[in-house]
Amino acid sequence: MSSSETREKTTPADALRLDHIVHEYGHGDQAVTAVGPVDLTVPAGEFLVLVGASGCGKSTLLRLIAGFERPTHGSVRVAGAEPRPGATAGVVFQTPRLFPWRTVRGNVDLALRYAGVERGQRPARRAELLARVGLEGTGKRRTWEISGGQRQRVAIARALAARSPLLLLDEPFAALDALTRERLQEDVRRVSAQTGRTTVFVTHSADEAVFLGSRIVVLTRSPGTVALDLPIDLPRDGVDADELRDSGEFAELRARVAHAVKSAAG
Ligand code: ADP
Ligand code: MG
Repeated sequence: MSSSETREKTTPADALRLDHIVHEYGHGDQAVTAVGPVDLTVPAGEFLVLVGASGCGKSTLLRLIAGFERPTHGSVRVAGAEPRPGATAGVVFQTPRLFPWRTVRGNVDLALRYAGVERGQRPARRAELLARVGLEGTGKRRTWEISGGQRQRVAIARALAARSPLLLLDEPFAALDALTRERLQEDVRRVSAQTGRTTVFVTHSADEAVFLGSRIVVLTRSPGTVALDLPIDLPRDGVDADELRDSGEFAELRARVAHAVKSAAG
């Protein structure tokens, strides 16, 4: 596709656009289609949650969006351009993947260095990032001295270090206890809104999807295609998180998404 065609088809408000994405692993008669075809247009500022059964291709899609891999067919465009690994998106994985020999501060500083932030500006940026994820005062601690939830907070701070337009999270809270998970859900929603990042969050929990998403896309079983594309329009401003979770509207949406995930998984 020529660049003029890309410009024509992509409006400035589209933070992310997937055009007929298909991804295969392996070659020839060994080839397995992992995901697709998927078409998605995501406006800037959206909090998109991808839900689907294990193996349907959610992680593959995130890797394609981050530019870690290129799709076998179709195209990925982030603000109209091809994704560049490390620059296009901050990524948070299920396990935090921190450097254990470094302190919390050291892990964030390394991310700032990779993001091209000058040494003199790093302390202020680091303090800002740690405050944003609720980790003030933990900078000097080693990563083994902090809880699983705090480690995942460090991973989120690190993903925010580069001022990339996208924030991608791949089942980041799956290994955490229920209470910690709820806290982190509240915080990641706030961080996404405050930083204005377009966010793509992968989960297999209908509950998590409804709490977080401004839009939910349910994928079919492998190779995943879009089974349901649902805008979530819950009242959130000034509404207490627990109140929201306890509301009838929330329960209705959660049931609808859970049902869609089940039928889509076949
Ligand atoms: P999900 O994240 O939804 O569980 P994945 O994207 O990890 O799904 O995987 C989708 C499909 O692609 C699965 O069938 C999986 O086995 C396959 N797959 C994923 N990564 C690879 C890989 N690196 N090589 C070969 N097959 C893969
Ligand atoms: Mg996965």
